[in-house]
Amino acid sequence: MRPESLFPLFAPIATLKGVGARVGPLLERLAGPRVRDVLFLLPQDLIVRRVSKVASLVDGGVQTLGVTIDFHQPPARSGLPWRIRVFDDTGFLALTFFKGYGAHLAERHPPGVRRIVSGKAELDRLGNGFQIVHPDYLVAEARAADIPALEAVYPAVAGLPSRMIRRFAAEAMGRAPELPEWQDGAWIAKAGWPSWREAISRAHRPAGVQDLDPQSPARRRLAYDELLAHQLALGERKRTQKRLVAPVISKSVRVQDAKAALPFPLTGAQQRALSEILSDLASGERMTRLLQGDVGAGKTVVALLAMLAAAEAGWQSALMAPTEILARQHFDTVAPALAAQGVRAVLLTGRHKGAARAERLAALADGEALVAIGTHALFQEGVTFKGLALSVIDEQHRFGVSDRLKLQAKGGAVHMLAMSATPIPRTLELTVFGDLDVSRLDEKPPGRQAVATRAAPMGRLDEVIARLDSALRDGAQAFWICPLVAESETADLAAAESRHRELALRFGDRVGLVHGQLGPAEKDSVMARFVAGEVAILVATTVVEVGVDVPSATIMVIEQAERFGLAQLHQLRGRVGRGARASSCVLLYDPPLSEAASRRLDVLRRTDDGFEIAERDLELRGGGDPLGLAQSGFPAYRLADPLAHRDLISVAADDARLILARDPEFSSPRGQALLILRALFDWRPDGPIGWSG
Ligand code: ADP
Ligand code: MG
Repeated sequence: MRPESLFPLFAPIATLKGVGARVGPLLERLAGPRVRDVLFLLPQDLIVRRVSKVASLVDGGVQTLGVTIDFHQPPARSGLPWRIRVFDDTGFLALTFFKGYGAHLAERHPPGVRRIVSGKAELDRLGNGFQIVHPDYLVAEARAADIPALEAVYPAVAGLPSRMIRRFAAEAMGRAPELPEWQDGAWIAKAGWPSWREAISRAHRPAGVQDLDPQSPARRRLAYDELLAHQLALGERKRTQKRLVAPVISKSVRVQDAKAALPFPLTGAQQRALSEILSDLASGERMTRLLQGDVGAGKTVVALLAMLAAAEAGWQSALMAPTEILARQHFDTVAPALAAQGVRAVLLTGRHKGAARAERLAALADGEALVAIGTHALFQEGVTFKGLALSVIDEQHRFGVSDRLKLQAKGGAVHMLAMSATPIPRTLELTVFGDLDVSRLDEKPPGRQAVATRAAPMGRLDEVIARLDSALRDGAQAFWICPLVAESETADLAAAESRHRELALRFGDRVGLVHGQLGPAEKDSVMARFVAGEVAILVATTVVEVGVDVPSATIMVIEQAERFGLAQLHQLRGRVGRGARASSCVLLYDPPLSEAASRRLDVLRRTDDGFEIAERDLELRGGGDPLGLAQSGFPAYRLADPLAHRDLISVAADDARLILARDPEFSSPRGQALLILRALFDWRPDGPIGWSG
C-alpha cells in the first residue's frame, strides 16, 4: 500500500504543467512515467552565469551583460546568420542567429533599446571580437530577474531541452512533501547529511559546482536512500524465499561414489561449495544460491553432484544452459557420470521434435528420467516433471528473471542453483545478488597454466598467421574470434565469413566457422569436429563466449579486441589454458588504440584473476553501467553511482540486515518511516527488483 503522503509524487507526469502530447513521451523515456521520476532525474552540470562587461568577456564563458542595441545586420545571402551588433561602455559585441527569425528580432529589439543578454561568449575566428551565438536570454532590463545566476543542466534530448526539464523538475520539487526521517538519527548527524527533502532540493538547485559532486552530503544522502531501499527489498525477498518449504534432500551415498569416480579430486573451493549446497538442500528451506566462479573453475561438476543428490532422494533436476552447444556439452559430460550411478538424464532442446521430443517428455513426466539438461526448451508448454526439486541455471546472466521463474514453475518449491562466470567485485555482488546466498569458486583446478597474452596491431596479421601455422604443425588447435556488434550483425558476420575464407585458403578444410545464424545441427557438427581435432582453427563470432570446454585448444586469437569489454575478453581468453599444455592469446587491434582500450588490453596482459579484472573493469569504466551488467539484472540506480558510492553499498547492506532482524514487521517509528522509503522507491520484494525489471 502506498502511503497517502506520496500520492503527489506518484501522479503521472502529464499532471506537470507543460507536459503534453509532444513532450510527454520524451520526458517519460528520459525520466519515467511519474512525477517522482522527474524528481529522480538529477542535473549533471551547472551553468554559472558571470556578470561581465564587453571588455572583460572570457572566451567560452557563460556571461550576462547589459547592452544597447546598435543595429541589425540581415544575412547577405541565405544560409548566413542574422546578426545584431550591441555595445556597452567598454566595446561592441555581436549576437548571432541562424535560421530565419530576423524580422521578428528586428521588431522586438529595435536600435537604441537597452537589453540584458546572456549566453556563451566566443571569440570570433575571423578576428571580429566576441560574439554570442543564440543567446540563452535577450530580455528587457525589467526582466533581468528571469536570468538565474546558477542554472542546473539536465541530460537533454532533442525536443526536450535542459531548460524545460528544469522547469518540470522545479514543479515536481514543489510537490515533494516533508517526509519522516527514515535514516538512523545518529548516523545522519554524524555524516552531516540533510533531510531527504533538503537533499533532493539541493540536488536540483545546486548552490555551486560542489553540489554536483557525488560526494557532496546531499548526493550521498540520496544515494544512500536508494541503496538502502534496494538492500531492504533484496533482504525481504531473500526472507520470503527462505520461508518456502522445499523438499528435504539429505542422503548422499551416490554423491560420495560419484565423487570418488571422478578422474580428479575436487578443489577445496569446489568441496566447500558442494557442502554449502548439500546443506541448503537438506535444510527444508528453499535454496536460492549463486555459484560464482571464473571460467574454467569447474562449476559443472558441482552442479552434477547436486543433481545426483536430488536424484538419490527420488527428485528430478533440470539444468538449463543458454545455448544448444553448451546444453549438449553438459549432457555429454554429465549423462555418463549419472548413468554410472543408475540415473537417466535426457537432453531437451529446441531441436527435439516429434517422436524424439515425445519420448523425452514422457520420461520426464513419469519420472523415469531424473535429470533434464537443455535450453529454453525446458520450460516450454508441454514439458511436465513428475517431481522437479532442483533447477540449475548455467550462465545465469544470459537468462531473464522470467525465464528462471518459468522453469521454477515446473515444480512446487524448487531449489535453485544459479551459476555465473562473470566475476563481480565483492561490494557490487551485494547489489546484484543481494537476495541470493553466494558460493565462490575462488580456486582453479590444479595444473592450469597462465595464458601468455599479447596485443598486436592488425598490420602484423601475417606474422600471427605464420606462427599459428607452426603451432598447428605441432598439433595445436585455435579459436579465432571475430567481434559481433549488434549494430550491424550482417557486416560482422561478413567479416567472420571472409576471415574464414582467407584462413581456409591457407589451411584448407581444417578451418571451421560457427556463428549465431547457423542452424543448430550445423553448429553442433562444426563443434564436434573441433572437439575431435578434425577442425584445427575454429573461426567464431562470440557464440563460443559461453562456457564451451575444449581442453585441447591452446590458442585464442581475438580480432578487433579493442571492441570488446574487459570482462568479455577475459571470458573469451578463458576458453584456452584448460589443458596441461601452455596456451597463448593474441589480441589483435585496429590502430590507433584509444587510451581506454589500451589500458584494458594492458590489464589482460598483466593478470588472469577474474575478480581483479572485474575490479579494474569497474574502475576503467567509471559509473554508468559497470561491467555491462544492465543485462544481467544489475539495478540501474538513479541516485547512487555504484563506483563513487561503493563505500555506501556495504553499509546499506549491513543496515538492511540489522533492520530486518530487529524490526521485521517495520513497527518501530523508524520502521514506519522506512515503509515510506520503500514505497518511494517502489522496489518490491515480490516483483523484479531494479528499474529495468
Ligand atoms: P566452468 O566453471 O567454466 O563451467 P567447467 O565446469 O567447464 O568450468 O570445467 C572446466 C574444466 O575443468 C573441465 O574440463 C572439467 O572437467 C575440469 N575440472 C573441473 N574440476 C576439476 C578439478 N577439481 N580438477 C581438475 N579438473 C577439473
Ligand atoms: Mg560452465
